[in-house]
Amino acid sequence: MNVADSEMIEGILQSKNYSSINSIDKADIIFVNTCAIREHAEEKVHSRLGVFSRIKRNNPEVIIGVLGCMAQHLKDDILDSKPYVDIILGPDSYRKLPALLERKIEDKKNIVDTKLSRYEVYDNFFPSRKEGINAWISIMRGCDKFCTFCIVPFTRGRERSRSVNSIVNEVKKAVNEGFIEITLLGQNVNSYKYENHSFDYLLKEIAEISGVERLRYTSPHPEDMTDDVLYVMAHYDNICNAVHFPLQAGSSRILNRMNRTYTKNHFIERAHRIREILPSCGLTTDIIVGFPGETNSDFEETIDVMNKIKFDSAFTFKYSPRLGTKAHEYSDQISEMDKQERLEKVIKLQKEHTLIRNKEIIGNNERVLVEKNSKRSINQWAGRTDSNKWVIFDKENANIKDIVDVLITDAKGISLHGYLVKKKEAA
Ligand code: SAH
Ligand code: SF4
Repeated sequence: MNVADSEMIEGILQSKNYSSINSIDKADIIFVNTCAIREHAEEKVHSRLGVFSRIKRNNPEVIIGVLGCMAQHLKDDILDSKPYVDIILGPDSYRKLPALLERKIEDKKNIVDTKLSRYEVYDNFFPSRKEGINAWISIMRGCDKFCTFCIVPFTRGRERSRSVNSIVNEVKKAVNEGFIEITLLGQNVNSYKYENHSFDYLLKEIAEISGVERLRYTSPHPEDMTDDVLYVMAHYDNICNAVHFPLQAGSSRILNRMNRTYTKNHFIERAHRIREILPSCGLTTDIIVGFPGETNSDFEETIDVMNKIKFDSAFTFKYSPRLGTKAHEYSDQISEMDKQERLEKVIKLQKEHTLIRNKEIIGNNERVLVEKNSKRSINQWAGRTDSNKWVIFDKENANIKDIVDVLITDAKGISLHGYLVKKKEAA
């Protein structure tokens, strides 16, 4: 999400003749685009800002800006404790950036704009993408779900979707620029709604665009994962066979307290449905441990769902209290020690499940998109299967951006290994 926003901010600035440089010490303007989802993300920004303050000490003319969710969330704190920050802009104010910069250059006062909008979707702004394989395309912004642990509805505002036309145009532009994989983005990507069109319709429209070799999306909400979406995925070969399906917690009591709108059984039923309609689909998830009030037996229910579903991989988090959210006020917070212990358990279990799931595809020919050099050897490529698993294999005659057949021969750690299946030479 932040990569997409940063690319858009860069696009907005480039359209006004600003250009980016590689050396931060030589920059006239420095922006940090921030995330506020967990405390850890905020800590990283604080340490970056420490570096910027030293740069400003040496060069008082440099303009420093904090953009995005943390600006929205912590503007008062930044204003009070970081006087060297000149511009604070929330996620719905990027459009004004060039005008605000001019104002800032003329009169030296600090600028703060964190007004959230019901309508801003940045239609008709083309992000500045680096050359590459995958283009992130933001299709909706904000979130109306208000999970009690989550800051997003407060930092990114109400849910709103871009028009089908503007998305289709951006996809076509990305394809013309050489991108072959498109990833649709949104806080709740499948809650997409524009006029009477929902997410399944949009998926279909984009899958039909010539040159879109691979289509992915993230992050969907389990509540909006309809059969219609799954049928569209099953119908189009270029829509990747992968679903991110965020569980958060296994206990229905905790899910209810999180305001997640589904129960344990409903989640399990939907996960089975995904695998029924999309056999061998890569199924990944997000898990939070140590949500306020989570007892050992609640936690065991998370383990139970993990054992029942066996996700292909998972992002696992310790609950991080976010000021302003409902769960921050709960009095039954879990100790750091218990959170850590539970986190280690889910990480260990997930590693086992990833290996089990990966071993199941040993012997398969998988379609792999060649993406980058493997970290292990310059003679090997790393690429992803349709189901979003990394595969390492000898380069032979394959090139970056090729989609090749790889015979999977081994599964180690979280990666697969294999070799290129040679195509028969023409007679
Ligand atoms: N909209 C998506 C998730 C977007 S946020 C959904 O509802 O599933 C990405 C992930 O960050 C969440 O799935 C959740 O697991 C994690 N997360 C969000 N707030 C958090 C918090 N306060 N503490 C720990 N993890 C959190
Ligand atoms: Fe946050 Fe996702 Fe819940 Fe929205 S649906 S509040 S983004 S966790």
